[in-house]
Amino acid sequence: MDHQQFRKYGHELIDWLADYMDEVETFPVVSPVKPGEIKSRIPASPPASAEPMERIFVDFRDLILPGITHWQHPGWFAYFPANNSPPSVLAELLTAGLGAQCMIWQTSPAAAELEESVMEWLREMLGLPEEMTGCIQDTASTATLCALLTAREKTTGYQSNRIGLQHPLKVYTSEETHSSIEKGVKIAGFGSNAIASIATDEHFAMVPQELEKQIIEDKKKGLHPCCVVATIGTTSSTAIDPLEDIGRICRRHHVWLHVDAAFAGTAAILPEMRHLLNGIEYADSFVCNPHKWMLTNFDCSAYFVRDPGALIQTFEIHPEYLKTGRDAEVKNYRDWGIQLGRRFRALKLWFVIRSYGVEGLKTMVREHLRLAQLFSGWLQADARFEAMAPVSVSLVCFRLNDGRPELQLNELNARLLQSVNETGKVFLTHTALKGKTVLRMMIGQRTTSEKHVRLAWDIIAEKAQELLAGD
Ligand SMILES: *Cc1c(COP(=O)(O)O)cnc(C)c1O
Repeated sequence: MDHQQFRKYGHELIDWLADYMDEVETFPVVSPVKPGEIKSRIPASPPASAEPMERIFVDFRDLILPGITHWQHPGWFAYFPANNSPPSVLAELLTAGLGAQCMIWQTSPAAAELEESVMEWLREMLGLPEEMTGCIQDTASTATLCALLTAREKTTGYQSNRIGLQHPLKVYTSEETHSSIEKGVKIAGFGSNAIASIATDEHFAMVPQELEKQIIEDKKKGLHPCCVVATIGTTSSTAIDPLEDIGRICRRHHVWLHVDAAFAGTAAILPEMRHLLNGIEYADSFVCNPHKWMLTNFDCSAYFVRDPGALIQTFEIHPEYLKTGRDAEVKNYRDWGIQLGRRFRALKLWFVIRSYGVEGLKTMVREHLRLAQLFSGWLQADARFEAMAPVSVSLVCFRLNDGRPELQLNELNARLLQSVNETGKVFLTHTALKGKTVLRMMIGQRTTSEKHVRLAWDIIAEKAQELLAGD
């Protein structure tokens, strides 16, 4: 493709994307294709000769689009959101066009310095302690792995990188923790038996007394407590672990505290929600995903640490071919994480924060919180439904409950979820809370408005009525 053609198709694709953003609501939220359906229509071998862009694009529209689940649909109420925005998409296009590989300062000074600046902006927006320094990781899973590895190094006096793990280390997290913690623990060489799963209270938050009891018991057994992972906004129910109590326990026992606020952290940009992070001054590391709830398209995960020296000591490498005369004066982000090569992710976050302004982002988050309260109110006013967890941010957990035995209730709610999603107009997902099947109404899509939340409620109420009448 020559550059003249690039110009032509570039304009056409931007036009297409603008139409897509306008019309995404007309698609079924979840792709209806069957497993293997898309692959069966893709040639088994690559084309030997060049194909025209027109043909590639027709295939994108006819073959690929039907297999896309529309995360940017205003009826997206599933999992957590991964909301994007026009400025973010434009910045991502620039990032691709510049094609810079930003492993060290010299390979693009602007990428390194913009990352430093936007992380300082974000620290201020979230009200994180001034001593914290941020960098961008691809995902919260990676950020948490970095935290575990750094905690491992710190606990072993920076020896495990050299000689491997010699003694069993322990990692503490609640039974509601995200699966990425166990994955990280396995990858970091602790072994998944290292995890102590701490009990949660009736609101699904970690019980700090249980945490301290376990740490003391482990110490008595000669085990080495290494890291506590607290969650601000668990994935099932956005439960908030009591950070201040957990933080004090970590201080008392000299254990690394990692705070996983992948989704809910964004809410802390609101002064009225900053309390979510009370106790953050005890944290050694913190992660929040702008790629979930801050209009920055996947991937962009903000990782903050109290002691960047410990992070760098864990990851730094000094091959001759990457040495430059400036290494003492600049940040070389290759030493702040796992991979060497790095994408220029700061650009999209910069575009987003500037084009919405902090006020614009606050307005969006506030609206989502309001819509969640609204939905929760409708739910509580309807005796057929039961609220299943506190609404700490913008997730409402609920179930249909007509008093039948628990096991049958689980099955009833699974059927309700299926019939709601089969409409194609909304998409919700489920979880289990202490063995009970629960539907999750997650509000966080950029274009979701009261009208869409109302539609979701009407569909849920109607399908519930049909189910109860049929049984
Ligand atoms: C989404 C989520 C993660 C994982 O995020 P990725 O960026 O996809 O790795 C981790 N923890 C919590 C609490 C989450 O909500």
